Amino acid sequence: MTIQSRNPATNQAFETYEETSPDALEEALACAEEGTEALRLMGVRERARGLERLADLLEERAEEYGRLASLEMGKTLREAKAEVRKCALACRYYAQEGPGFLADEPVKIDEGSAYVAHLPLGPILAVMPWNFPFWQVFRFAAPALMAANPGLLKHASNVPGCALAIEKVILDAGFPRGSFKTLLIGSKRVEGVIRDPRAKGVTLTGSGPAGAAVAKAAGEEIKPSLLELGGSDPFIVMPSADIGAAVDAAITGRTQNNGQSCIAAKRFIVHDEVYDRFRDAFAEKLGALRLGDPLAEDTDIGPLASASALDEVLEQIEKSVGAGAKLTLGGTRGEVEGCPEGNWFVPGMLEDIPEEAPAFRDEIFAPVALLFRVPSLDAAIELANDSAFGLGSAIFTKDRAEVDHAVRRLEAGATAVNRIVASDPRLPFGGIKTSGYGRELAKDGMMAFVNKKTVTVS
Ligand code: NDP
Repeated sequence: MTIQSRNPATNQAFETYEETSPDALEEALACAEEGTEALRLMGVRERARGLERLADLLEERAEEYGRLASLEMGKTLREAKAEVRKCALACRYYAQEGPGFLADEPVKIDEGSAYVAHLPLGPILAVMPWNFPFWQVFRFAAPALMAANPGLLKHASNVPGCALAIEKVILDAGFPRGSFKTLLIGSKRVEGVIRDPRAKGVTLTGSGPAGAAVAKAAGEEIKPSLLELGGSDPFIVMPSADIGAAVDAAITGRTQNNGQSCIAAKRFIVHDEVYDRFRDAFAEKLGALRLGDPLAEDTDIGPLASASALDEVLEQIEKSVGAGAKLTLGGTRGEVEGCPEGNWFVPGMLEDIPEEAPAFRDEIFAPVALLFRVPSLDAAIELANDSAFGLGSAIFTKDRAEVDHAVRRLEAGATAVNRIVASDPRLPFGGIKTSGYGRELAKDGMMAFVNKKTVTVS
């Protein structure tokens, strides 16, 4: 069996890879088991130095890896290079902070002494999506390597080149054989890896159905799991907000990564007093974005990652319009000169969306803005929380009391005030409700797969 890399700008396959055979998978699992010991023997300081070397290599290869990501999944080269550099940042963060996070923590008890030691669990399976093909993996891999947990990567099937590049750069940085292995396997083979006694946990970033399947197998095997799933983040705009700044943030939030981000602002919930002003300015900027070759400097929006992603968003729009929503801008198949076969989609805007429309409840993983008009902050929060998702949220206002109220009431793993939601290695990242459980990044991300051993001494 083979796996192909296909350029979403042309829909032409440009590279073919052999799937990992059953024998090679068996060898990878055996090797990963040995990898735990090899990482442990390196010691905390040497692992931190390894992460620094890894950061250097990622910075050196940002152009090469950025180009690969653009070619495999269509994001603009500018964003792809920034993504690779952000991976370097995460490596440096854990190199600096990891030794402190992993240090023994003394605890005062009545008799004798006690401390908490932080020990590796062993090989962790990472099931990852294509939308940030480097960052999604590194935000797992950097803390895992620091904590001496080997990584087994099952990446999305459309980014095999990125998956192999990640394994290569980690080994090039001097991490031992067995510390990180890419498995080119389809999703049907994931359960077998979770159930293998040598895999000690699983982390998944992706859709709800994939998360549920992985968590079910992990639960039956009594293994820890972490899920980062989808979102339909609300973006609330109140009358006191700087509307120009809110519009700029809304454009970036909705269209970055060609609109394919779990923490993209998706539902724009705007106070009646400023709705028209916000809508007009937003529509003008959205309509001016340049669709084109992701490798070109002047492209704002590249193709969607796959033909099926394009079909899906077109269907969501058609059904939403059928249910009564108004498509007031774009939202159609796009055209780019010289690339008639690409997955081009014109950024769109839906208004007056009724509850029955798919756009009201479902995640739209493409640059489509959903606009809602509300009479008050309470109405905005009620609408924001009327969603199965709970990943990120944002509010634009200059009123302190409104901020405090929203921060306490919005059902989400993050609230950004007068800015868009973005991940940062120093801050915990994750969702509630059907957006998943557990936290990546910061100290929490490292502790997700660590044995916090209680030690008492008389
Ligand atoms: P999928 O869930 O289809 O794929 C994600 C990964 O899971 C892929 O590696 C895929 O493999 C694998 N997978 C799919 N089905 C199964 C299964 N039944 N058992 C085991 N593994 C499976 O999501 P997409 O690739 O379409 O990514 C987009 C989704 O991810 C969106 O919903 C988005 O919101 C979410 N996401 C969440 C983020 C977060 O941090 N919360 C960040 C980014 C995206 P294969 O490719 O071989 O099918």
